[in-house]
Amino acid sequence: MGSSLERAIFSARRLLVERLGLFVAVVAALHLWLGEFRQLTLSAAQWPPLLVASVVVALLGLRALVGRAPGRSKLALAFDRFELGLLLLVAVYVLIQRTAGGEAASASGGSWAQPLAYIAVVFLVGVSTRGVGLALAAVALLLQLCVELGFGAAPPNVLGLGVRCGALVIFALASLLLLQAEIARYRREHQRKLAQAVSAMREDAREFRLISTSLTSSSSQQRAAEESKLARGAVEAIHEGMFFILELLKQALDLQTCVLLWLDQSGERLRIKELVTDSNMVSETSIPAQAGALGGIVKNRLLINLSRPRNGARGIPYYSGPEEIGAFVGVPVIESGHLRGVLCADRREDCAFSADEEKLLVDAAAQVLRAIQNERVFSAVERSKYEHERFYRASEMLNGALTLAQVYDTAFSAAREIVDFDFGALTLYDAEKRTHTICRVAEGRRRGDDHSAPIAVSEPPKQHKLEGESFGANAGLVAMVVKNKHFLPAGDGRSSSAAKDMVVFTRKLKVSGMSSLVVLPLIVQDHAIGTVALGAREAGRFPTRIREMLGVICNQVAVSIENAKMYKRMEEMATTDGLTALPNHRTFQARFSEMLYRAERTGKPVSMVLTDVDKFKNVNDTYGHPVGDAVLRRVARVLAEQVRKVDLVARYGGEEFVMVLEETDADGARLLCERVRKEVAAQVMSSDKGPFRVTLSLGVASYPTDGEIKEDLVERADQALYHAKQTGRNRTVLWRATKAQRKATASQ
Ligand code: GH3
Ligand code: MG
Ligand code: MG
Repeated sequence: MGSSLERAIFSARRLLVERLGLFVAVVAALHLWLGEFRQLTLSAAQWPPLLVASVVVALLGLRALVGRAPGRSKLALAFDRFELGLLLLVAVYVLIQRTAGGEAASASGGSWAQPLAYIAVVFLVGVSTRGVGLALAAVALLLQLCVELGFGAAPPNVLGLGVRCGALVIFALASLLLLQAEIARYRREHQRKLAQAVSAMREDAREFRLISTSLTSSSSQQRAAEESKLARGAVEAIHEGMFFILELLKQALDLQTCVLLWLDQSGERLRIKELVTDSNMVSETSIPAQAGALGGIVKNRLLINLSRPRNGARGIPYYSGPEEIGAFVGVPVIESGHLRGVLCADRREDCAFSADEEKLLVDAAAQVLRAIQNERVFSAVERSKYEHERFYRASEMLNGALTLAQVYDTAFSAAREIVDFDFGALTLYDAEKRTHTICRVAEGRRRGDDHSAPIAVSEPPKQHKLEGESFGANAGLVAMVVKNKHFLPAGDGRSSSAAKDMVVFTRKLKVSGMSSLVVLPLIVQDHAIGTVALGAREAGRFPTRIREMLGVICNQVAVSIENAKMYKRMEEMATTDGLTALPNHRTFQARFSEMLYRAERTGKPVSMVLTDVDKFKNVNDTYGHPVGDAVLRRVARVLAEQVRKVDLVARYGGEEFVMVLEETDADGARLLCERVRKEVAAQVMSSDKGPFRVTLSLGVASYPTDGEIKEDLVERADQALYHAKQTGRNRTVLWRATKAQRKATASQ
């Protein structure tokens, strides 16, 4: 019994607190009826109407400024609005009664504040929903009657009362009609804008698809630049378009927030892909896909339309703080049977989304999906173009490499255009000797990388020793790749444990610490001429796609190696004498110039020696031309063996040779010449007519003592040689020693 009484009291009290405005308004209306505000002054005798009037004003201010706690029902919200309007009207009529003046004034039409009542009615009907507005208009009418017909009022002037009440009704109706018309116009305008935007988007999308066929530039470089610019612009336009759709939805549907959430790769979290909002409570992080109202959409892939969500913003997980939510719609974005994301819209007002609005959101979701599909196509185009560019750069590098050393270096640079690696080696296979040689080893990563830790090869100092190492056929990866002409290891290159134990070259020449490896063949005309081996500490660095791209690069490396070899052969042919393998006359000329230039700079002497085989005609005549050739080869070998590396020995022509001796004066040259002469004379040549020997005559001219320019030196060495021939052959003659004889000749 007691408890039910308690409950009743509690309920009554709660109702009183909740609807205080209503009670106060009713009390004030009673006072209006009693005419108690008519002569209101600040005297103690009049405290009840004074109190009521103060409470009305205080509550009006409070309710208008402070707003109610969120999460109220639709009905409660309508009541709140009604209550606020009621308080306003009561306040206005208290003022009207207070200022109505004496009976004369009342008879002539009431207070100067009467127009405030009309203004209040127009305003209240205008801003409220239709029902609340009309109820408030009726209340205004009642209050008007209270003031004019209540206690203490002047005898009613029927015409005046009729006019004032009529005015109230007319103002209320006019406001209602105007407002409705305005709303309808506003809606139509937005629908038109939306339709326009959607058709613009369609047009854009169509244009995007046409891009690749609409290019006109002829130059490939220009075309590539144009294409890249267009694709980049298109992707940006897609993003702008998506933002525009959301912005437009927000305006057309009076939204607080319109957000496109996208499911991440794991399918467990939703990320904001595009957002338009008035709220500053929207979460900045990704949100669990199973949370709140979104969970239902993700799970059932069905649209959800909520009016006054029970938990307010707490049920809408893209809000991280309290926010007023009047209605919410979530539309699943589904692509070929898979849920990709959710398009969400909410509004603050307590106005549920209609079927038409739902449809608009569903259409927008489809549009957004198309935009994203376009974006995907364009990023794929971009990506493949990027790959093409890398190929292009790689092959350009390789085309520019003319020597083998350049090819070895650029092979790794070209490979790095495709993938970064920690270890690289290029091996060549000699099919005749059946040996593999490690021609070049690339260490570490490209310059500028943070990961510049030393490369992990079995013993770091041995790293450089790998270069130049040779090995025969074995079961290592390199040998197997050359044998099978196919890359290894097979499979998708993901199993890192296997890569660690693999033998790349031989068990001794080991590469360790690599979690992924690939060895690719260098193939020329169906023969593997070698391999490129790459390793990375990270597992799975060489997946199928990368290996395929590396395969293309390796084909080019192979061709470049063949070209470099060919260039080398051509160069050799152009600079070397075919019979003796010594540099030929042209090379001698070029190198002698260089050596003289060096001597000029350093101030050190240089000697040149011309030498001619004595009575060589006889050798040919006696033993035959082939034997003569063999003699020339033998002499060439002796000469080459006797000089230092810095010196030059060349075939000058016929059976004449030339030596250029760096940092050697005439006396030094004589010593060497004598050694050479004796060595040649000591050689026993063989022929079918028995063994024989040949001798040399040598003439020496030295820079700078005998001459300072090339032509003078050559001429003087020749004179010295002639002198040697004249004075008995098989001897060395210095040009300076011939002076005396020349003087004698000149004086004759
Ligand atoms: P001298 O002691 O005065 O030099 O007598 P010589 O017989 O060597 O005189 P000469 O310079 O007239 O003879 C050079 C000969 O060398 C003539 C030529 O047939 C021969 N000869 C030149 N080039 C070659 C070659 O490439 N092979 C062979 N077998 N003989 C060559
Ligand atoms: Mg000769
Ligand atoms: Mg000769």
